[in-house]
Amino acid sequence: MGQAMNGRLNALTIDVEDYYQVSGFESHIRFEQWPDYESRVVGNTWRLLEMLHFHRVKATFFTLGWIAERYPQVVLAIHKEGHEIASHGYRHRLVYNMSREEFRQDTERSKGILEDLCGAPVVGYRAASYSIIQETLWALDVLHELGFQYDSSIFPIHHDRYGIPDASRFPYYHMLSEGRKLLEFPLSTVRFMGRNVPIAGGGYLRLFPYRFIQWGIRQINERENAPANIYLHPWEIDPSQPRINGSRLSQFRHYLNLDKTESRLRQLLLDFRFAPLRRLKEEIEDQNRPAEPEKQQSVPIENRG
Ligand SMILES: [Zn+2]
Repeated sequence: MGQAMNGRLNALTIDVEDYYQVSGFESHIRFEQWPDYESRVVGNTWRLLEMLHFHRVKATFFTLGWIAERYPQVVLAIHKEGHEIASHGYRHRLVYNMSREEFRQDTERSKGILEDLCGAPVVGYRAASYSIIQETLWALDVLHELGFQYDSSIFPIHHDRYGIPDASRFPYYHMLSEGRKLLEFPLSTVRFMGRNVPIAGGGYLRLFPYRFIQWGIRQINERENAPANIYLHPWEIDPSQPRINGSRLSQFRHYLNLDKTESRLRQLLLDFRFAPLRRLKEEIEDQNRPAEPEKQQSVPIENRG
C-alpha cells in the first residue's frame, strides 16, 4: 500500500468497445452485423466505473464514436465521474486499412460525437489495435491537424497485427512536418532477455503471472524513472460474454484468463498510482516549460555581483 501512495503516476486507459468489435474477429463479423449481437459494453463499463470509484482512481476512456452514439448515458457517466474521455475512432477500423482521407473522416466524426456529448474538448487518440505503424505515421500529422494533443497508439514490439519494434518505449514528442510535434504515449513494455516484452494490459495482463507484471511496472517506474501505460477493455472483465467462432489464435487471445482480469486490475490499483493520460501530459509539459523570462534574466545579474 505504501508503494501505491509514494510511487510515481502511471496511466490507466480503457478502450471502450464491445466484445464483437475487436480486430481479431473482424474477418468473422462485419460492421453491418454489429447490431445483431447482444451488447454488453454498458454493464461492463459500469462495473469498471464502480471499481475505479471504490479505489479513487481516474482513467482515460478511449471510446468508439459508434458506442457513444448508441449509449450516450454511459459516456456521460464516465465524464461526470471525472475520467478523461478520449477517441478510439468511430468504427474500429485499422489505420493501415484506411486512406488518409478516410482516417481523417473517421477520427473527426468520433471526436465531434464525444465533444458534443460531453461539452469538453477531446485531446487524446488511440487507434484500433494500435494500428499506427511505420507505414501509417502520417496519421499523427492528421491527429495534430484535427486538434489532438497526444496519441497513444504505438506499441514498440514485433506483432502480427501492429508494432514499431524500435520506437521509443517511453513518452516522447513525435516530430511532424513544419516543426510541429505531437506527444506520444507508447504502450508499456519491459526489457527482458534483450527484448521488449509487452506487459501493458489486455491479453498480456491476462497471460503473464501477476508477479511478472508487478516486477515490470516497478522496473519502469524505479529503474527507468518513467510512467507505465496500462490498457484494458470492458469485455475483459466479463467471463460470461457470448462466444464467437473466430480463428484459433483470436479465440486464444480473447478468452484467455478472462476470469482473472478483475482481480488483477484490483491488485494493480492497490499496488500502483494511476491517472488519466491527460494528467501525465500536463506533468510532461510542466517539466518541458522553459524558465520564466524574469528568472532567466536574474541569473547573469546575480553572477555579476
Ligand atoms: Zn480497440
